[in-house]
Amino acid sequence: MATTDLQTRFLGAQDVAAIVTQAGLAATLRGLADAIRDDYRHWQDFDKCARVASHSPVGVIELMPIANAHTYAFKYVNGHPKNTLRGLPTVMAFGVLADVATGAPVLLSELTLATALRTAAMSAVAAQALARPESKSMALIGNGAQSEFQALAFHYLLGIEELRLFDVDPQATAKLVRNLQHTPIKITLCTSIAQAARGADIVTTVTADKTKATILTPDLVEPGMHINGVGGDCPGKTELHPDVLRGASVFVQYEPQTRAEGDVQQMPPDFAVTELWQVLCGHAPGRSDERQVTVFDSVGFALEDYAALRWLRAQAEALGVGQSVSLVPDLADPKDLFSLLTGIDRPCGSQ
Ligand code: NAD
Repeated sequence: MATTDLQTRFLGAQDVAAIVTQAGLAATLRGLADAIRDDYRHWQDFDKCARVASHSPVGVIELMPIANAHTYAFKYVNGHPKNTLRGLPTVMAFGVLADVATGAPVLLSELTLATALRTAAMSAVAAQALARPESKSMALIGNGAQSEFQALAFHYLLGIEELRLFDVDPQATAKLVRNLQHTPIKITLCTSIAQAARGADIVTTVTADKTKATILTPDLVEPGMHINGVGGDCPGKTELHPDVLRGASVFVQYEPQTRAEGDVQQMPPDFAVTELWQVLCGHAPGRSDERQVTVFDSVGFALEDYAALRWLRAQAEALGVGQSVSLVPDLADPKDLFSLLTGIDRPCGSQ
């Protein structure tokens, strides 16, 4: 019986870094934003569910599946805000693309770097639909692992020219400043959230703390602001005061998941939210006037990972990056799984 070519492409962290380096960061963020927008416009084609979370006192581990008629994807991701004290990232991830027709896994990829890229691209896609088009300045509250990606996505994709930075950890801010030093972005270091938010067109909150934090209070919100809330993404973990949400039009990825995990977890079940795909498909308005306050209550949805995985797969194939691995057995006779053991499982003396 002929064997099939049952090989899985494996992309490690260095492979994904090589793809981004070869494509360039601006082109990567644009490519991911296009892939995300395209998949959100095919919202009805996807079989969706809220992610499955396993909580512990210090963090969460989640599985995020999604599929259309052709391709199945899932991501494994954690969120452990105290990990950095142990020298580990807060967020770590990997994921798989599989062929729906056979179930065969076609791609196994690191998704820690890719999550930061896709989260930033998603934020930019939302802001392109919701922020005032002339936005030039952004407050960036929380200057950890995600922050460079958020900063650069808003610079490249929205034309943000000025960043106003604040973090409770000055070393995190110093790291962000170092990593952005070769860009033309004007940077203002702020000593409080209030100072950072004052006069900003967009406020991005991307802090990590497993608590109902109140990073942004209503007194800091100005007419016309767009708020990109990224760090409130788990039950019991929020960043926006409930009155910030009450005073704004709130947009979400997948409502059943965001009601449990997003900042809107603080609101009653009938609090109005709009799923972003409706705006991207032209079924619902985004921003309707200059003074409207908009909130993108980002939690991270499986569709962004699907988009990132298919973009990575296409880039890896085009550039010849990654390794071919035997993740599942490639058998001469698919009913003879036992044949894998011959040669290592013979009785002593029979060799
Ligand atoms: P990180 O631990 O590397 O950085 C978080 C930063 O927030 C730290 O520098 C910390 O000092 C700072 N911080 C904590 N409390 C603060 C406060 N009260 N004021 C100002 N700064 C504060 O984590 P990260 O990988 O950058 O992730 C940041 C957040 O984004 C996490 O909550 C993570 O779960 C979330 N996240 C969301 C998505 C999404 O799709 N929405 C994707 C990835 C990560």
